[in-house]
Amino acid sequence: MRIDVLGVGFDNFTMEQAVDRAMDLLEQPGSHYVVTPNPEIVEVCRRDAAAKAVVNGADMVLPDGIGVMYGAKLLGTPLCQRLPGIEFAGALMEAMAERGKTLYLLGAKPGVAEQAADKLGRRYPGLRIVGTTDGYFQEDAPVVEKIRGSGADVVFVCLGAPKQEFWMEKNGGGTGAHLLVGLGGCLDVFSGNTKRAPAIFCRLGLEWFYRLLREPRRIGRMMKLPLFLVHVMEERGKR
Ligand code: UDP
Repeated sequence: MRIDVLGVGFDNFTMEQAVDRAMDLLEQPGSHYVVTPNPEIVEVCRRDAAAKAVVNGADMVLPDGIGVMYGAKLLGTPLCQRLPGIEFAGALMEAMAERGKTLYLLGAKPGVAEQAADKLGRRYPGLRIVGTTDGYFQEDAPVVEKIRGSGADVVFVCLGAPKQEFWMEKNGGGTGAHLLVGLGGCLDVFSGNTKRAPAIFCRLGLEWFYRLLREPRRIGRMMKLPLFLVHVMEERGKR
């Protein structure tokens, strides 16, 4: 059963369970998709019923941010582990490398996915990266066809939220891949173009603060975090 945080249902997995489940989905027929919402996306879902349906319709919904963990705890239904998309992706690639699975990278500015493919191929020997496409295409069909032609088992879809969630739901089946994972800005990090926060920030759950320091223009988006907490407290009062 999923844990509800302001209308978004989160799976209560450890990292190991999440990767096992994803590897399991990979072997099953059909197309599956994974989302990793943070408080900003939960706030989008509160206002946008279509986004909410697409997020809740995912085969796995993982809590990306510390804010979601606080929200679940304040509502009396704590989640066992924070599962940042980028860490889930790393653990998944390790498991895929062991089993020789194939990966396609979709998203980010031109050139970034290729750089990420180069770095990831070296970091996870055994992982087969079978194609890349940047995230600034006009039509879906040629991209879907290219992914299908690559025979990828898994696609990392990094178009920003909620665009990537809509894209996966609409096009997942067409790609022929068994698993699509929405990962926001992860290709920028995997390529080395954006630095992930130092370990101390991650451990303290202050990764958002580090990102804010590096990219102050994010302040508008990040103001959704206090708003999210206000909504959590309202919901707590109702319950
Ligand atoms: N992006 C894209 N196509 C678009 C819009 C965005 O490929 O039409 C990419 C963008 O270049 C960036 C990522 O999507 O690499 C979004 O990153 P952001 O840090 O905003 O995502 P978050 O991790 O915060 O969801």
